Amino acid sequence: MKKIQQVMENKKPGRITDYDKKLPIVELYYCVQSEGSRSGMPTVCVRTTGCTHRCWFGEGGWCDSWYTSIHPEKGGFSFNDIKKMYDDRPDIKEMMLTGGSPTMHADLVNELTHFANERGILITIETEGSHFIETDYPIGLISLSPKFTNSIPKVGVETPKGAITDENMIKQHNKFRLNKEVIKQMMEYHTDYHFKPVCNPDEMPEVWQEIESFRQELGIPKNKTYIMPPGDNRDELIRVYPMVMDFCRDNGFNFTGREHIIAFDTKRCV
Ligand code: SF4
Repeated sequence: MKKIQQVMENKKPGRITDYDKKLPIVELYYCVQSEGSRSGMPTVCVRTTGCTHRCWFGEGGWCDSWYTSIHPEKGGFSFNDIKKMYDDRPDIKEMMLTGGSPTMHADLVNELTHFANERGILITIETEGSHFIETDYPIGLISLSPKFTNSIPKVGVETPKGAITDENMIKQHNKFRLNKEVIKQMMEYHTDYHFKPVCNPDEMPEVWQEIESFRQELGIPKNKTYIMPPGDNRDELIRVYPMVMDFCRDNGFNFTGREHIIAFDTKRCV
């Protein structure tokens, strides 16, 4: 416990004072939350750029938000832009903070917790679990999607913008991957969490074994586990949905779809 407290004390984030400054936010838009336990609710998506990981899923291809991770675009939105989204739609009381890896931007996340506390907004932060942040107000929901061995790139693969992977990229990917101590701190400190592994256990039995060992080691109950089918386009999701749904029905897990992909296919900002 002492060790955890020490780590927590060392990670106190700051505040953002210049609300006009451009932040590492690459997308900002209204949408309907379509993954996990807040599914179906209108929300504001804040997508940060930059990621600690370099996910490559073999036949499943590169990270579907590669423009925030493998080839990160520059951010172009300010804190005032976020405020305006909620000023214009005061009925929306949800925020989906995603990336990239939002926990790389501790001051921004901390400032958002102040904003959310003032306005009664529930923040869902999507994280692979690289960094713990002791925000001034706890985050409403940690949506945890740690990356397992099927996410490790291989040497010699072409990236979305035509670079070729090397050992350094693999090292970078594994540096923060499955950081269990950090993941435990995130689960304990913040208000609530769910675990959202991406897997089709029927076709990926080895990956499912890893996921299940991780879940049991961390004591995550089945009713906080939402299994999400892999696939970044409509056709692939429609193919795998029935298998993952049947698995959830037969084994007592929650199923979560990716309804924005079913509705809009590969379109961005939806
Ligand atoms: S952790 Fe998420 S955002 Fe980062 S590379 Fe992997 S899939 Fe992409």
